[in-house]
Amino acid sequence: MRRFVLSLATAVALVGIGLPVSAALAAPVTTVTYDLSQAGKYAAASRQGIQIWNNGLKNVQLKEVPAGTAGAVKVRLDTVQNTAPYYSPSTKEIVLTQKQIDPIQSDGKPYRDPIRTFVHESGHSLGLGHKTGSNCVYVMLPSPSGNPRGCHDYKTPHSSEYSAVDAGALVTSLPAVQGQTIS
Ligand SMILES: [Zn+2]
Repeated sequence: MRRFVLSLATAVALVGIGLPVSAALAAPVTTVTYDLSQAGKYAAASRQGIQIWNNGLKNVQLKEVPAGTAGAVKVRLDTVQNTAPYYSPSTKEIVLTQKQIDPIQSDGKPYRDPIRTFVHESGHSLGLGHKTGSNCVYVMLPSPSGNPRGCHDYKTPHSSEYSAVDAGALVTSLPAVQGQTIS
């Protein structure tokens, strides 16, 4: 935000040339759109994940759009594949694989928390790669070393993850995974 903070003198000068101060002070917001029409049973969790990102982002906002909207990241429930949920940069698709999200474990929880799963995969769609280590405070821990079962209660990105998206992860990080899927 700091680059948008204008001194009072600058603001007065802008008024002097007829530029509205409110426009000059407003940070540009990049909107990333999501089509949840194929998310099925995970649509509600995906909406909560969108809200979690939006709560902490300043320069980027996620937005749900109607089915078929061009350019949107598609979020799709998959009931067949027995692979970790993933994001495909080439097709801009988040695939939420029910077989590796739902199975209820001995602690009564699903294998993966669907909200954390969406926050993680949408993190890839925002340009983030993986964090290293095993600290649940990072939503971008890779699976399975990210220990998804042990991180159920950590659905909110770390401040450094919000900052990375705000700083332009969307345009700087994705080339590393272009053409591949990333879980
Ligand atoms: Zn991942």
